[in-house]
Amino acid sequence: MSAATTRSRTPDRLCAEAVDLARTAAEEAAAPGVVGEHVDMVVEGDRVVTHLFECKEFGYRGWRWAVTVARASRAKYVTLDETVLLPGPDSLLAPEWVPWSERLRPGDMGPGDLLPTEADDLRLEPGYTGEDGPPPNSPLSAEMAELVEAEDAEVTAGPVGELPVAPARGSIAAVAEELGMRRARVLSRYGLHVAADRWEESYGAKTPMAQAAPATCVSCGFLQPVGGSLGQAFGVCANEFSPADGRVVSLSYGCGGHSEAAVMPAAPRPAPPVVDEMRVDAMPLGPDAGGDASAPGPA
Ligand code: SF4
Repeated sequence: MSAATTRSRTPDRLCAEAVDLARTAAEEAAAPGVVGEHVDMVVEGDRVVTHLFECKEFGYRGWRWAVTVARASRAKYVTLDETVLLPGPDSLLAPEWVPWSERLRPGDMGPGDLLPTEADDLRLEPGYTGEDGPPPNSPLSAEMAELVEAEDAEVTAGPVGELPVAPARGSIAAVAEELGMRRARVLSRYGLHVAADRWEESYGAKTPMAQAAPATCVSCGFLQPVGGSLGQAFGVCANEFSPADGRVVSLSYGCGGHSEAAVMPAAPRPAPPVVDEMRVDAMPLGPDAGGDASAPGPA
């Protein structure tokens, strides 16, 4: 329904007067008692008018029952078109729909959840054999096919230095696969940077814990180094009493659990007991019994 389709802005008189017909239709569609005052009327076209009624239902603040009525040309009766509940200009609406992949936040995943990674995820780039094609050293690969073709063409008659050689990448991929290191995709440079920024923010030098720490993780015995380029700036904390236990920490992070910075104070040793054998202390035996502790007692 839109006033933009209106050819005549003057409402048809019979349609405009059919408020009771519209209200009855709205009350039939709505729950009892939730159709309020007649608030507006919209001319939809020639002899087509929509009557708007306030909706008094909880949770639909500002919404309106819209009942469209129409009258055929030269007809005396107004008939009902449709009844719907529509939001008004001040109605409470749900926010714009956002795809789940944009709504997802760290920590939202639970056991059994699957999180597909987009094919063009900027955090990843192809690994050794990330493409769909066969590995470079496969007999099916284009490089090997070229090699075979060249041999078949009796290029072997030329100097040895001119012979096409098997691609070096192929052997790396084959070895990687044998060692179980084959991954279709690996972290891209961008992926490394965003991960490093995230970890630095959580467990980096600017955190209050690091600012108050007696020393940094780089000199801590609980720091477990990590491999790769990230190992130059990060490690894993393995101190169960540290707030960063099991976390990737910046080498410039630190906490009070540093293995060397805080020395455990030695337990205080009580002074040896002193036994005075040269005098006797008088002890009171009753509530009224006084005694001069300094007076010498019976020997
Ligand atoms: S115990 Fe503290 S200083 Fe040591 S590695 Fe863990 S976070 Fe760093």
